[in-house]
Amino acid sequence: MTQESGRFAQALVGAIRTLYTTDTFIPLHEPRFGPRDSEHVLAALESGFVSSVGRHVDDFEAALCDFTGARFAVATVNGTAALHVALLLGGVRADEEVITQSITFVATCNAIRYCGAHPVFVDIERATLGLSPESLAAFLNDHAEIRDDGLCWNRDTGRVIRACVPMHTCGHPARSDRVAQVCADWNLVLVEDAAESLGSFYQGRHTGRYGQVAVLSFNGNKIITTGGGGMILTDDEALAQRARHLTTTAKQPHPYRFLHDEVGFNYRLPAINAALGCAQMEALPDYLTQKRELANGYARWIEGTDRVFVREPAGAVSNYWLNAFLARNAEERDFILEYTNARGVMTRPLWTPMHELAPYRGCQRADLPNSAWVEARLVKIPSSVPPVESSRDSRR
Ligand SMILES: *Cc1c(COP(=O)(O)O)cnc(C)c1O
Repeated sequence: MTQESGRFAQALVGAIRTLYTTDTFIPLHEPRFGPRDSEHVLAALESGFVSSVGRHVDDFEAALCDFTGARFAVATVNGTAALHVALLLGGVRADEEVITQSITFVATCNAIRYCGAHPVFVDIERATLGLSPESLAAFLNDHAEIRDDGLCWNRDTGRVIRACVPMHTCGHPARSDRVAQVCADWNLVLVEDAAESLGSFYQGRHTGRYGQVAVLSFNGNKIITTGGGGMILTDDEALAQRARHLTTTAKQPHPYRFLHDEVGFNYRLPAINAALGCAQMEALPDYLTQKRELANGYARWIEGTDRVFVREPAGAVSNYWLNAFLARNAEERDFILEYTNARGVMTRPLWTPMHELAPYRGCQRADLPNSAWVEARLVKIPSSVPPVESSRDSRR
């Protein structure tokens, strides 16, 4: 470890403590709540409708349609459940394959396995941290063919490749237009994991609006939260109806009978959570502004130390959900993680790549040079919307 790395880590802790004006523990991302949040949740309690029926779920879904431009939004208990159903909507079946990136949160792969399908890993781009359209196209050229049935077959495994799931890492948009083009060329359904990227746009389109279906998450650490929650977005009315059906135990409408026409799920978001979501959506534009200011501050500081801050990619407006920078090498990354976490400043590496995890070690994969390069260097730093005092200060 060089002395310069030591000085950098020390200065980083100081800079983060100054930003958040506290001597106590600083988490990676915590939610912000105000009086409006309590009012909405109380209103749900007082209405008596705290479960999945009631105005709040409809209002929350409408707010998401409005914000993202999607025609339909279906709220779910969490983002993982949304992904599971989104893949089923995409037609993913047992013993098929779904291409995704090895650099993602494990939920992406778990949802693929819930369908009985197998993940296949391609590389990410250094610039976007998202699925590389070039790696995807190269993998398909080398290993796949479209047969007379119109489906994309993996020549090595003899299985159908049904879908592709890019993920917008830390909120930074992947190059979805190019990914969508490759998917169209190979008859793959595009399902976007936009769990981290509410408020991020690529070429003027909200993330998740390039795929046939996409998902969002409102887990406690995401840019807005419902405690736990997720959302399925689509422009396709039939898919939206099917999403509602599958997430409500596949129950057919009937005045009093219990008729379920397939194996469904209890995946609908409770109204009490949706009420919190409605309040959080009102705050989202402010959160986005404040997170951008925070990111700009970090960028200036990090770049002043001659290190690379992860900026929004060209053509994108990012929500800057999680700020991150690249350490000089894996050794420096490990030193910084050790140093900051020992001093109450929460930092995290990128996830362990999926192809290194026990359940996914055996999955087929492309060469993953960028995944390895980024994973060895990236450090996520505290990114909560700054507390009220300091954000007020920064507005003056
Ligand atoms: C948060 C997240 C999810 C899952 O969301 P939950 O609401 O926690 O189930 C899925 N994919 C990615 C990339 C995520 O970051």
